[in-house]
Amino acid sequence: MKITAIETVHLSRGITVHAGPVQWLWVLIHTDEGMTGLGETYPDPLSEKAVVLNRLAPVLLGRDATQIDRLWADMFEAIAYSGWAGAEMRAISAVDIALWDLAGKAAGKPVYQLLGGASRSSIRTYNTCYDNLSFLTEPVELARSLYEGGIHAMKIWPFDPIARLTRGQYITREQIRQASDGLRKIKEELGDAMEVAVEFHGYWNLTCAQQIARALEPLSPMWLEEMLPQDNLAAYRELALSTRLPLCLSERLMTRWQYRELLENRAARFIMPDICWCGGISEARKIASLAETYYLPVCPHNCGGPILHYASAHLAANITNLYILESVRKHYLEEYVGIVRDPLPAVNGEIPLPPGPGLGVELAPEVMTRPDVQVDRVSLQ
Ligand SMILES: [Mg+2]
Repeated sequence: MKITAIETVHLSRGITVHAGPVQWLWVLIHTDEGMTGLGETYPDPLSEKAVVLNRLAPVLLGRDATQIDRLWADMFEAIAYSGWAGAEMRAISAVDIALWDLAGKAAGKPVYQLLGGASRSSIRTYNTCYDNLSFLTEPVELARSLYEGGIHAMKIWPFDPIARLTRGQYITREQIRQASDGLRKIKEELGDAMEVAVEFHGYWNLTCAQQIARALEPLSPMWLEEMLPQDNLAAYRELALSTRLPLCLSERLMTRWQYRELLENRAARFIMPDICWCGGISEARKIASLAETYYLPVCPHNCGGPILHYASAHLAANITNLYILESVRKHYLEEYVGIVRDPLPAVNGEIPLPPGPGLGVELAPEVMTRPDVQVDRVSLQ
């Protein structure tokens, strides 16, 4: 199955997340057998598509699309000399997802079957709260609406407004108390029936992170996510040793080599790769296996576009050391509508196993002709 053309599809209508607007990029890999694979990355499509079209396409065109591991290694070699931990790895991730989609379509099976089969009949999920109800002003109402929908875990980031004020360099006891208030109210209302993870987006220094972590201990959050920047993993070990709460990291690490360092410093209790960033389905599967050797569970980061949502569901269906899969109710109920036919919503609080063959999802045909979509293509001469 020879790769004959590669297209990038850039939707300039972004969505807004905690750090501001992000945009999605899709990659279509065409073959001489008429099958097309679909991948995705984000948040910076102009950078990512330049890598796909200029650096990766010369490696891929004319090659056998079923040689996923060989192609991954050759793409990695092609970009390694320029420094790989950025748009380069996000581009490889999108291509890798598309190659798995093709492999599944060629086999007539869902991707999770090719990974080793389903390890569960549906996927436990938590909601990352980009909801219309605010966790800052209406935490109990938000928690109740999730609970009534069958979702029993949620993620909030109530310390971010203070971090923006102080640049993460100091926090007062009063600020800690105020930022903890929503979590405290949810726990008072729902108790252990609702698990709450607290996300920090890497904004804090170690001293503040230790103060916050100790203050949150009585409220038993599910995990503390990315309290520090991700560049000094030994500092994370110090943080982990100073609190009894488990740490979760990190969507911003890429490849098995960065996760090796994370695992060896033994700070994280929850391992969180993003398939669109870490190197694709291939790399996320390997990272999950590495985590398994440390008896650690995986909770894939799934806060991007609809193709990441499907790819994450395939990985989560397969890996034996899944803890829980992230999903965003606002995304599958609103943002993905009109882009894919079935946004794969949670059903009774669980994500269903995605259908096949391949990823089991395609861009809606009308996406390609939208005025806010730019399609670029390189073909075999
Ligand atoms: Mg995060």
